[in-house]
Formats: sequence, C-alpha cells, structure tokens
Amino acid sequence: MDIVEPPIPFLDLKAQQARLGPALRARIDAVMAHGQFILGPEVAELETKLAAFCGAAHCVSVSSGTDALQIAMMAEGIGRGDAVFLPAFTYTATAEVPLLLGAVPVFVDIDAATFQIDPEHLEQRIGDAARRGLRPRAVVGVDLFGQPAPWPQLRDIASRHDLFTLDDCAQAFGAALGGARLGRAAQATAVSFFPSKPLGAYGDGGALFTDDAARAALYRSLRTHGEGTTRYDVQRIGMNGRLDTIQAAVLLAKLGTFEAELARREAIARTYDAGLARHVTIPARVADSTSAWAIYAILFTDNAARTAAQEALRAQGVPSAIYYPKPLHHQPAYAGAHDGVALPVSEAIANRIMALPLHADLSDAQVARVIAAFEGLGDHAAR
Ligand SMILES: *Cc1c(COP(=O)(O)O)cnc(C)c1O
Repeated sequence: MDIVEPPIPFLDLKAQQARLGPALRARIDAVMAHGQFILGPEVAELETKLAAFCGAAHCVSVSSGTDALQIAMMAEGIGRGDAVFLPAFTYTATAEVPLLLGAVPVFVDIDAATFQIDPEHLEQRIGDAARRGLRPRAVVGVDLFGQPAPWPQLRDIASRHDLFTLDDCAQAFGAALGGARLGRAAQATAVSFFPSKPLGAYGDGGALFTDDAARAALYRSLRTHGEGTTRYDVQRIGMNGRLDTIQAAVLLAKLGTFEAELARREAIARTYDAGLARHVTIPARVADSTSAWAIYAILFTDNAARTAAQEALRAQGVPSAIYYPKPLHHQPAYAGAHDGVALPVSEAIANRIMALPLHADLSDAQVARVIAAFEGLGDHAAR
C-alpha cells in the first residue's frame, strides 16, 4: 500500500514563526505596551537597519510595495503625457501605478533566459513612445523572481535618454549585483514586505531606498499626506502611506535571520538545479549576481507539457504556481494603454514557465521529494 505523504506547502509561514520563537512575540508585545501604532520607535529602527543592510543612504518605510512605487513616481511628478517603460512580464502593480497617475506604461519584452527586461528592446520602445507623442520619462527595472535586472545597461540607456531609474525590487531585497546589495542600483528602489516576499511582514508593507536626501525627504512628506514641517502644514497632495509599527516590529524580528534564510534559499536552488536539469530548463543566472530566490522558475518545452507536469506533481503532493500566466500587455486592464506591439518572448515564456516551492523552511527531505516527483515526467528540457 502506498503511503500518501501530506502535500508540501508552497510557502510555510507557520514553520518560520515557530523558528523565530519568542523574539517575535517580544517585539510585537513591546508595541502593544507602548501603544505608538503609527510611526512608533520600531519604524525608525527598522529604517536605519534596512538602510545599513543594503548600503543605501536613506530608507523610508511605506505601506506596501505598490505604494512605494507610487510615492517614487509622484515625487518625480510623473503624470499625463509621460511614458514609463517597464517589462511586460511582471506583476500588475508595476504597470498599474503609472496608469493611475495618468502616465502610460510602455511594455518592454524580456530576455528569454533570465526573464529580465531586455535593454535592447527598451531602446526600441523609447523610439516607439516618442513617435506616439509621449515624453520618455522613467524606466522601472523589475528584479524579477529575486534576480537583479540588467542595471548597468538600464542606467546607461537612462542617462542617454534622461530617464528616471526606479528599481521595482519587490521580489529581490537581499539580492546583490556586482557584489553590492540592491538598494542603490537605481535612483530609487521600491521594496515590498508582502508576507510571501523574501522578507515578509504579517500584513502589507514596503520601503523606498535612495541615496538622494531631497528625494528621501519628499518620500517622507508624501507618505503622510504631503505634510510639511508640522502636521497641519500641507505642502502637496500625498497619501496615507506609512508602515504600521507592528509590521516594523515583525520585520525587525525577521531581519535577524534574513541572511541565514537567503543562504538556505540559495542552497535549495542549487539542489534543485542539480536534480532537475535533466528534466526541465533550470533558471539561468544573471551574471555577477546573487538572487533572493523569491521564485524558482523552470521552463517546459510547451504549455501541454507544463499542464501535464503540474497535474502529475500535484498528485504527488508537490505544489507549483504560474508566475505569470499572461503578460501584462494581454491583460484587459492594459488594452487601452498598449500600442499593440507583439512581445513574443513574454508571450512564449508565460506558456512554459512554472514555479516550485522555495522557502527557508523547506527541509532537505521535502526538496528531495520535489526532485523525485520529476522522475517519470519525461524530458521537457528545451535545449
Ligand atoms: C509584490 C510585487 C509588487 C507589489 O508589492 P505589494 O507590497 O504587494 O504592494 C510590485 N511589484 C512586483 C514585481 C511584485 O512582485
């Protein structure tokens, strides 16, 4: 008789909570005791520690990764008539924000191996946008799945076309490029602390990083309704965009084990690589970088092979997820903004990609079980 093991969790926040132990409760209890739920002392402590962690001069914590993107774009005055360049293969928040501000998200295709924005195509899209009568204004590089976007090339293009550089680092806090942690790769860096991100809170949260003191001051103003030097001095239109003190307390407790978690994620990714390369296309690495491994994404030869594999894995208790089933330029919400250009790499990858569980609380036995589940699926590596 087969013994059916319980399914492996795609994400296991309960195991992490148990591992963090009383330190986490002590942090939360401290907030309950002092009662400063908005901008309490934990918020400033977290900002100092996060800035030190990634080497940025300034950290401004905010209410979510999406709000971090919005505050960064509001601070530049991005709006009507502006083109904001971003990859078509990303989460909707990246493109939603420029549209909300009245600007036009201009979708750029991705690299077929690393899934990151394609700098050559970006150059082409800058020309396309200018021909549409839009003003090229900003490029949002997304560090997709935890690996850095091609920042040296993006910065070079941005400087030639006078574009603001914004790093959508929602998935990649803790990753490094050229030996330096992300946080300074662009003029501003937006991070998300959504619970499933590499560094996750117990609710929504985010942060902005910049080396520019004037930008940091503007971000602080914008996150509190555009306030000036006193609470009832309203300098500009802002948002209610602060990080809750309780979430800062949770993040402080988690920050203590974050480096160890990043190392564990890297070790699991390497074990997956070694065990899966015979079966599927394993993730290509961005040169000279480390990943935060928000997502470990493999490729099948085609959509039918992926569907069959997903069902076979599920039957063995191995969960999977698809990021992203549809590139943004094919989403109804962006139909009116998109110029109709085909983005063939994003379209093809969406049909072939699949994510496997990867988190710091995955045991060696669970990792081995995931790999073993691929035996018998056949060879789906696109070589
Ligand atoms: C998660 C995510 C966001 C949004 O972050 P929230 O904290 O959920 O608002 C933005 N961009 C990307 C690429 C993301 O993965």
